[in-house]
Amino acid sequence: MRDGLDAYELSLAKRADALTTACVHAGEEPDPRTGALEAPLVLSSAFAFDDAEHAAGAFRGDNDAYIYGRWRNPTVEVLEHKLAALEGTASACATASGMAAIAGAILANCDAGHHVVAPRSMYAESARLLRERLPRFGITTTFVDGSDPAAYAEAIRPNTRALYIETPSNPNLRITDIARVVALARSRGLWTLADNTFATPFAQTPAALGVDLVVHSMTKGLGGHGDAIGGVICGSEEQVARARDFSVKGLGGVLAPFNAFLVARGLRTFALRQRQSNATAARLAHDLARLASVSAVHHPSLASHPGHELAVTQMHAFGSLLSFELEPNARGSALDRGRKVLEGVRTITHAVSLGDARSLLTHPASTTHSTMPKADREGAGIGDGLLRLSVGLEAHHDLLEDLSRAIASA
Ligand code: PLP
Repeated sequence: MRDGLDAYELSLAKRADALTTACVHAGEEPDPRTGALEAPLVLSSAFAFDDAEHAAGAFRGDNDAYIYGRWRNPTVEVLEHKLAALEGTASACATASGMAAIAGAILANCDAGHHVVAPRSMYAESARLLRERLPRFGITTTFVDGSDPAAYAEAIRPNTRALYIETPSNPNLRITDIARVVALARSRGLWTLADNTFATPFAQTPAALGVDLVVHSMTKGLGGHGDAIGGVICGSEEQVARARDFSVKGLGGVLAPFNAFLVARGLRTFALRQRQSNATAARLAHDLARLASVSAVHHPSLASHPGHELAVTQMHAFGSLLSFELEPNARGSALDRGRKVLEGVRTITHAVSLGDARSLLTHPASTTHSTMPKADREGAGIGDGLLRLSVGLEAHHDLLEDLSRAIASA
């Protein structure tokens, strides 16, 4: 197994190599006026015109003048170029948050009466958007087992517009066959949306597999430092322009320039950070799988993971998130044990979110998914003793020591 992990780390080095120049340079050039190497942080909400014709031309779209910060901002554009380069899409539109990207992408493309098919196992707020909020506007969703392409096919109705993909899924890392869902969508004239937050473009590039719109919470691995909320919609020029017009210009879900500056700065080290955290996650998954006190470990790098073979074919790497399960023991129920592990870790931080430089641990049953009826939660594969770990940049041996001690005392 060690050989397998060593070979995996070599493949991660190659993936980092493929991306790191774009991480540093894409979208950036020295400021033409000052020569500043760092992209200037432009906080202006409006931009002056040279003369009346310049202004009129800007509104007609005949010149490239900036008009107003909700429409375009130079700092945000630097970030958008970097994101399009990393996702391999023609265009990208930054948004105020990941949820603004998801809601904006759907609302820009679905009208009242339309229907979406989405995976049952997905980020809880995205599920809430589809289950509770969008039906108020006449957009309904059928939730299916995302790891079963036939279930997507069966759920399609005459009014279906979009197939929604989130893989690996939150929090139990189930894998959806992206190419098969895309093929299904194309054969039925539908569009596809993939939330690529968990994988990041380091580990997976859904647009290369034919997905129309790829969305992210940039708050996570892209920004990478846990200091800025942001989102992005990546896709073709035409699709992104429509999403931008509707959700950023129209609904106002604009990314603040300061947050764009922070995420663009974070992106310069993106490939190197991902190389480290992806490698550590795979090592920890293999370590935890050997602990008798852990009943299951979910990470696509494990041969025992039901989506392993598929992940090998559609992912560049297996990602920096893993989850594991504890059974009840003489000292407490699975729920109690999960909570005790949270309280027992020292290097690892007990906090929501993911993709941070710090490793973050969550216990979905008592926090993020606590309001979900137990039967639905367990149906989505989220048991009482499930813990989700977002692996950061700390040393593997420190994280292993911390987890092993916290698990042993739970
Ligand atoms: N998608 C996934 C997979 C997430 O985990 C999250 C947040 O945790 C979001 C979307 C929403 O992102 P944001 O918090 O930036 O709105």
